[in-house]
Amino acid sequence: MALTIRRAVPLATLTTLGLGGPARVLAEIRHVEDAREALRAARSEGAAWGILGGGSNVIAADPDAAGWGFDGWLLHPVGSAMTVVRRDADHVWLRADAGVVWDALVAFAVDEGWAGITCLSGIPGKVGAAPIQNIGAYGQELAAAFDTAEVLDTVTDQVATWSATDCAFQYRDSRLKRAAGRYLVLSVTLRLQIGGAPALRYGELRDRLGLARDPAPESAAASLDVTQPDATRPDATRPDAQPRLATVRETVLAIRRAKGMVLDAADPDSRSAGSFFMNPIVPTTAADGALSGLERRHGATLAMPRYPAPPAVDGTARVKLSAAWLIDRSGLRPGYDHPDHGGRRVGLSAKHTLALVNRGGASTADLLAFAAHVRERVRDTTGIVLMREPVLLQPAR
Ligand SMILES: Cc1cc2nc3c(=O)[nH]c(=O)nc-3n(C[C@H](O)[C@H](O)[C@H](O)COP(=O)(O)OP(=O)(O)OC[C@H]3O[C@@H](n4cnc5c(N)ncnc54)[C@H](O)[C@@H]3O)c2cc1C
Repeated sequence: MALTIRRAVPLATLTTLGLGGPARVLAEIRHVEDAREALRAARSEGAAWGILGGGSNVIAADPDAAGWGFDGWLLHPVGSAMTVVRRDADHVWLRADAGVVWDALVAFAVDEGWAGITCLSGIPGKVGAAPIQNIGAYGQELAAAFDTAEVLDTVTDQVATWSATDCAFQYRDSRLKRAAGRYLVLSVTLRLQIGGAPALRYGELRDRLGLARDPAPESAAASLDVTQPDATRPDATRPDAQPRLATVRETVLAIRRAKGMVLDAADPDSRSAGSFFMNPIVPTTAADGALSGLERRHGATLAMPRYPAPPAVDGTARVKLSAAWLIDRSGLRPGYDHPDHGGRRVGLSAKHTLALVNRGGASTADLLAFAAHVRERVRDTTGIVLMREPVLLQPAR
């Protein structure tokens, strides 16, 4: 089948923030030959290229002088196949095309009673992007269920099968993300546990399910060591606490909806890219300094959430902090906006300080100005520098 392309496609219609000027060409990628053809065409025009999935973790540029938000070819995976490629007594290996909607995959796995990704219910976007930032939520990360990905190197034109080790997953990061658009994920294969127990590490999730909190649930939820399979983690499968996967999925979705973290045209707080900042991993001394500064400012003792993190390469002890908590304690409350930084057009979600929302009529310049303001406020108040989670959609060659 011939490659399907669309020209001058407004990125605001393809991104959850609803921002960005038009992409010059959007090429629908069903299989690897489509990708090769699109790359050949881009090269023959001397044009740049990039990759766009569901547009839920990207910031697309405002129109440039020539009117383009993306002046080049955007490869847009649309393949929709899901196949069980292997099965043994305990596990299935489920392969999904990059264009499959992530939450459709989760819903399918939950319906089948396959454990491993239930807590990742409701995350927007497509399967192909899931390994890029090693999606995670509510005590689970993709890495634990990931088996392999089929990846096209857009520079060498070669397809290779990447293992979890090749991907070098970390907290909201991977080698794929660091290579900034060089590799196109064509499909992902997950290893799921047949009849497995749900992961019930996250305190808020346990509360909603009426379960006692684990002794150290939040630390597991925030764990950066994502390379261990679930079952090797302490307390992953408590015999006394095993609600059905479907119950856990519905509970996760309910928690997410309350925070504006499920895409919903009727919820203006979901017009975001999800969490705008990553939870910072900082030396323990920096966390202590931030806490004492905040306590002085608030004139009260504060309980700062902090979770274990691996030490730095030089051995410095580190902890992971909550970006939402730091923003809030820096005086920026849900719904906050600023007249000089995007005006009323952008602001913090009214439901969750970690999401920056396009309230309508905003530009990408507004969003980035507001994000810089939030970052500065947190840095000036706590000494901690927040890092952006969504990526700028920039052409590569
Ligand atoms: C309301 C909301 C809630 C969210 N909640 C969470 C959450 O709980 N946890 C979480 O981890 N994330 C969350 N996110 C972020 C986002 O949904 C995920 O990062 C998701 O995986 C992005 O998928 P996408 O298809 O939309 O990718 P896009 O936004 O289209 O792309 C993201 C990046 O991946 C690249 N990319 C996309 N597809 C491919 C591919 N096939 N091959 C190679 N590179 C590719 C793009 O070039 C870009 O750099 C949330 C976002 C929103 C809007």
